[in-house]
Amino acid sequence: MTTTFADLGLGDDVLRAVADAGYEKPTPIQEKAIPVVLMGRDILGCAQTGTGKTASFTLPMIDILAQGRARARMPRTVILEPTRELAAQVAENFDTYGKYHKLSMALLIGGVSFTEQEKLLDRGVDVLIATPGRLLDHCERGKVILTDTKVLVIDEADRMLDMGFIPDVERIVSLMPTIRQTLMFSATMPPEIKKLADKFLMNPKEMAVDPPSSTAETVEQAFMRVRPRSKRKALRDLIKQEGDQLKNALIFCNRKREVADLFASLQKSGYPVGALHGDMDQYKRMEWLEKFRTGDVSLLICSDVAARGLDIASVSHVFNIDVPNNAEDYVHRIGRTGRAGRNGKAFTFVTEDDDKLWHAVKKLVGKEIPEIQGESSEKPASGPAEKAEAADAPRQSQDRQGQEKSKRRDRRGRRDFGIGEMEEMTVPYGQSEHVPAFLLR
Ligand code: AMP
Repeated sequence: MTTTFADLGLGDDVLRAVADAGYEKPTPIQEKAIPVVLMGRDILGCAQTGTGKTASFTLPMIDILAQGRARARMPRTVILEPTRELAAQVAENFDTYGKYHKLSMALLIGGVSFTEQEKLLDRGVDVLIATPGRLLDHCERGKVILTDTKVLVIDEADRMLDMGFIPDVERIVSLMPTIRQTLMFSATMPPEIKKLADKFLMNPKEMAVDPPSSTAETVEQAFMRVRPRSKRKALRDLIKQEGDQLKNALIFCNRKREVADLFASLQKSGYPVGALHGDMDQYKRMEWLEKFRTGDVSLLICSDVAARGLDIASVSHVFNIDVPNNAEDYVHRIGRTGRAGRNGKAFTFVTEDDDKLWHAVKKLVGKEIPEIQGESSEKPASGPAEKAEAADAPRQSQDRQGQEKSKRRDRRGRRDFGIGEMEEMTVPYGQSEHVPAFLLR
């Protein structure tokens, strides 16, 4: 017998909102988590975005919050998210599922007006959704008091770890009452996350959906061996080669500097391209994301930080300009395509220096990833290809500088990528003869 949302114990108003959203039945994580959250138990959930994870905690939270009232500056529940986009997405979820409730919500993320959010906090909020650093700033200034928090959600815990946010999270938790309900979700469960779970959770119910290392069967993967300086040419060639099959693509780079450089380079050539990285102004990030969603731009260049967990329904291609530093990120990146049973393709460029990282990826994925050849595939040194590539050479030293910079950390241990705003558009899309026509639909 299939389980329905009503079977899970949710109240009528939440069920109405779920029906309005068009959901017919709960996803596996929702089926497992919702009754446990409603019971008041802690959860350690291993689930990626795209599994319906957000609703698995927001729906029961709305039900729980239906009783009681918030006091000034004392949020009743707190949700911690590693990135602004994810925080904004969770806030959207609350709006959708909480439409029949009168719940107040504040969003504490960089790039969103301070005064507006402080006014909300002063009135008292039921749900506070925040990135850890921003929340801590507010706590330190006495604008938020966490001693009345009943439910804490730590979402994307492994990403928090990667981004150096754990000390902030620990500090936040220390400001909360020890008797509370804590829900912790992570796409992967490395030992460090297990250790944190032991510290933050009390007798949690553990649940997992989708083993963390699984890559969707609907994603066709391939890699190409290239020299570092041939990557851009290889990308352009592959885009051209994919032709009409390429509807839209996410292009991942390891460094913000490379995101900005590749964006400038493709934009200059007239490609319909947008970009997303952690140092960009919040409004700009939202704007590019929206343009990508609506199809105004069909190529979105991103860093892992900015792209993590974004709910973009259908992406036909993923290109990895760089092999990610963490093998798990490969799974997340290619998981952006081949969603909801659709087919997708993922291409990765591998240089000689990437051998160790690539080996880790293959081990995690656990299956053969075929190699493909192209015009820019690695060839023996010297010859015309070498000369053509030399034009891009100065970029390499910039990349290395970027890499050095990305290793620096700020006083809270977060990475400092040190890059400013990106240039405004210089060439209207499609003005260059090099841009394949199918991209300019
Ligand atoms: P998430 O894993 O929370 O990022 O959710 C991924 C997507 O699944 C979002 O677009 C949700 O709106 C959608 N979704 C969540 N729950 C369900 C459900 N039970 N049925 C269909 N779609 C859902």
